[in-house]
Amino acid sequence: MSDIIQLLPDNIANQIAAGEVIQRPASAVKELLENAVDAGATKIKLIVNDAGKALVQVIDNGKGMSEADARMAFERHATSKIRHIDDLFRIKTMGFRGEALASIAAVAQVELKTRRAADELGTFIEIENSKVIKQEACAAPEGTSISMKNLFFNVPARRNFLKANATEMRQIVDEFIRVAMAFPDIFFSLTSNGQEVFHLEVGTGKQRIVQILGNNYHAKLVTVSEETDYMNITGVIGKPETARKSRGDQYFFVNNRFIKSAYLNHAVNNAFDGIIPKDSYPSYVLYIDLDPAQVDINVHPTKQEIKFEDEKIIYAFVQAAVKHALAQFSIAPSLDFSLNADIQGLDAVSKPFTSDQQQAAVSSNLYKTFTQKHQAHFIEPTNRSGGELKQWKDFYAPGSNEAESAEQSQVIDSNPPVRESLPFDVDNDTLKITDYSTGFQLHHTYIVLSSNNGYILIHQQLAHERVLFERYSAAANNQQVPTQKSLFPITLELTGSDAILLTELLADMQTIGYHIEPFGQNSFVIQGTPADVVSGDEKHAVEMLIEQFKHFSNDIKFSRREKLIRCMARQQSIKSGQSLTQQEMTALTEALFACSIPNVSPNGNPTYLEFKEDYLTKMFGRER
Ligand code: ADP
Ligand code: MG
Repeated sequence: MSDIIQLLPDNIANQIAAGEVIQRPASAVKELLENAVDAGATKIKLIVNDAGKALVQVIDNGKGMSEADARMAFERHATSKIRHIDDLFRIKTMGFRGEALASIAAVAQVELKTRRAADELGTFIEIENSKVIKQEACAAPEGTSISMKNLFFNVPARRNFLKANATEMRQIVDEFIRVAMAFPDIFFSLTSNGQEVFHLEVGTGKQRIVQILGNNYHAKLVTVSEETDYMNITGVIGKPETARKSRGDQYFFVNNRFIKSAYLNHAVNNAFDGIIPKDSYPSYVLYIDLDPAQVDINVHPTKQEIKFEDEKIIYAFVQAAVKHALAQFSIAPSLDFSLNADIQGLDAVSKPFTSDQQQAAVSSNLYKTFTQKHQAHFIEPTNRSGGELKQWKDFYAPGSNEAESAEQSQVIDSNPPVRESLPFDVDNDTLKITDYSTGFQLHHTYIVLSSNNGYILIHQQLAHERVLFERYSAAANNQQVPTQKSLFPITLELTGSDAILLTELLADMQTIGYHIEPFGQNSFVIQGTPADVVSGDEKHAVEMLIEQFKHFSNDIKFSRREKLIRCMARQQSIKSGQSLTQQEMTALTEALFACSIPNVSPNGNPTYLEFKEDYLTKMFGRER
């Protein structure tokens, strides 16, 4: 038999590797903008056509490249930014992995024009499929221009995965904003299909933020500024009135790099506790600067997730800084000062810290909770299904020890567990409910209802989500849900990227009863809502819908319409903790068992558990 292992050809290997770094036009935007920043540019222009699918071009006035470097730049692992492994721990540049240009060249047609100040002539290079197809000297302005054309032209399967232009464009705008916010002393512009969408002159950090978030933020921002030996935190937080129902304007930068951190976000939310309504989100743009040795930015290919050497301290510090700012501007009761002082006084924050302290922090429970799974900012949903419940489940489903908790967090999990089979005994053939009116409520969350051979325990929220999910699906597929006209049309002001998202959703929203019209830049008028949205609550409902949709937006499993329906079902459902009248319970349980799949919530969790009589007798150690 002949041997069968072969090395992949370079261009295929490159295409595969590119998948990590370049997933969509927005990924290229991020990488090219960051390269321009790293090149010391003071002026950076981004040009996109067809939401980046046809063209992404970045023009900078940075230091440019020599002829040899220009060619070298497209090799995998080619970087001018690190030389030794130690350099990884003092990174001050945005890039360092030397993968971006190689990846882009593997999956698009690339043109590079570059010239250094000292050189008379510049270099022009054309690359396709990782191969240089043209290279020549040329006249060029100082700096670099890179165009990426027809992304994934040679990987049609991936091209097909690209979303509608509005979605891709929203992501591009998000990436653009993240870089532009981090560098207010660089001029940035964004031109899309020939129209200049952003034109950001050099200014102070606060001016840049207002330029981006919009003028209505002016005078509504409070400055945050704390310095210690360990780290500095600067930036702005929105006054309570800028809090939104939708998690719109929340930005964290660590050493000028935008990062996603549910953990730090939690710290800010905590500081706002009691100052803004429970279901709204504060706005903030915060910049954390600390010794690069204290962060690991190499935990994720796109570097949006990072790992702090000591997250617990960062958390305490962020929370303290935000509280302090709120107190200073008399937004929070000054009582908060005492807490603030406590944290400020922590040795860890006020002094450079010792290895003993580090050890103590690392072995603390809090630290462990947050660093589990080696994920930078992973927060476990509070697992309220303790040991006992698990045993109960095991009892009902022998052999299925992997039973997961039916607990759900309030925000939609973007990766709902896909259950092939339920770990519970939910046997529809034998289950019969004879009288729906006998139910009673437990803990304002469950409905207990007797069945033909035992009883069932219904989770009211999950059950109602199932009911609404089927109702909306039917409506979206057959006829539109009746709309209730708003008596007074309500205007809605959104951030740029939320506005793009909503625009994209309008048609589908109409099929499920929302009548919303665009009204000038980033504004919309709500003309009507589905009949079951409570009047007076329309704005909140739409904001929540956008927020929840965002949690789904990277999930390719569902169509846009299905995502929307899932969000609606979640949003309009009766929530856990809500007390129900007898009629409401009856109506809900009747509707549940009229569903085509009554036993599973749209997310794949059980809607009820069945407790059969023979199980019960066994549990009590009795033969029947
Ligand atoms: P990295 O940024 O991680 O070093 P890239 O693949 O993004 O890797 O870029 C490779 C190299 O090409 C960079 O290290 C830099 O030397 C050079 N380069 C890329 N873009 C520019 C630019 N706009 N101006 C000057 N040099 C650049
Ligand atoms: Mg780079």
